[in-house]
Amino acid sequence: MQAVLVAPGVKDRKVLAFKRGGDAPLLKDNKDAVTGLIRSIIATSSPAQRSAFHVLDLARIVDLYRAWRRALPDVRPYYAVKCNPDPAVLGALAALGSGFDCANPNIRRQPVLALGVPARDVVYANPCKPEAHLEYAAGVGVNLTTYDSEAEVDKIRRCHPACELLLRIKGPEGGEARVDLGTKYGAHADEVVPLLRAAQRAGLRVAGVSFHVGSGASRVDVYRGAVAAARAAFDAAAELGMPPMRVLDVGGGFVAGGPTFQKAAEVINDALARHFGDLPCVEVIGEPGRYFAETAVTLAARVIGKRVRGEVREYWIDDGVYGSLNCILMDHYVPRPRPLAGTSPGEKTYTSTVFGPTCDSLDTVVTGYEMPEMNVGDWLVFDDMGAYTTAAGSKFNGFDTSDINIYVAYSS
Ligand SMILES: *Cc1c(COP(=O)(O)O)cnc(C)c1O
Repeated sequence: MQAVLVAPGVKDRKVLAFKRGGDAPLLKDNKDAVTGLIRSIIATSSPAQRSAFHVLDLARIVDLYRAWRRALPDVRPYYAVKCNPDPAVLGALAALGSGFDCANPNIRRQPVLALGVPARDVVYANPCKPEAHLEYAAGVGVNLTTYDSEAEVDKIRRCHPACELLLRIKGPEGGEARVDLGTKYGAHADEVVPLLRAAQRAGLRVAGVSFHVGSGASRVDVYRGAVAAARAAFDAAAELGMPPMRVLDVGGGFVAGGPTFQKAAEVINDALARHFGDLPCVEVIGEPGRYFAETAVTLAARVIGKRVRGEVREYWIDDGVYGSLNCILMDHYVPRPRPLAGTSPGEKTYTSTVFGPTCDSLDTVVTGYEMPEMNVGDWLVFDDMGAYTTAAGSKFNGFDTSDINIYVAYSS
């Protein structure tokens, strides 16, 4: 743990210690303890400071990293930076031994290299890249990238010929993912050989195969078919006389906090034994994003406005779909805000609407939601707000997502 607290990205931040709830914290919710911390943050802040904030619990990331190592001992995680690029998240994961998946290796955009992570621990897992970014990658020595089109092979040959390739294949359908990525990325089965040949002709080395079953996959059997399809691509490369592939990248899609992760790990371990058991030198990596970030962050948003219409209650809060709650639109997040003050049994509730702060009517957080009566100055708490939240917020209408304070905490 100490290594995490002194890691670049963490050590310059104030870290709030708090006591975690229960005696079996791993994958069990720590919600009451986080709620207590949120109350104390509010109580000790000046009224002028009281606006929406996030609490990032680094201990959660440590627990999840350990759980990953236990469940998938042969799969090194390369954290997908786009999910939550907070330097404390990146620094903690680097200290724990994670590599990183960056869609842009530029240190001003995804500051992994700036935290001292060696370029060899970065996979540039963006199948279609602007030329300037490829040239930047060449300059900093990020030498492993994904591709799924012939045009990309040509571009890499011109801009970064020392780069090794991972052929991104489209896994099987049916993962029932929250966010499907297969409509945009991944070579179809009949495109595998032509894409391998294109790399061969260009004199580029294909180091291996990658896939992504979709973010937040709920049917984890899809990993089985994807690993089998990856093996078929390994065999196709061997038949073309290409040098043996050495990397299998099982992508992301994992969800923490429930039984789904354990099931996904079992499916992957089983598929690796079955399809890659005879290739012990193949290095297996994954690109989890949501898994590490989602449950580590809690949002507290303040009620800044209220309207009573008969039995209906309408509230405005100081975060919304143009801010960190953009995950409602972009990531199919289902908000279930709870009043910070708690609810007592039998308390009267009202059918409530909660709006975000901007002047757009799309900026609506929940409708038809049963809640006790709230007042201006009260707070709502949103759990599981670490994945695809602040990373994709905007500055629309004068409300800047980066103004949302992030408190780094450590539960023990
Ligand atoms: C977004 C993304 C990830 C992370 O996906 P999660 O579902 O958050 O785990 C991994 N790899 C690639 C290439 C991605 O685009």
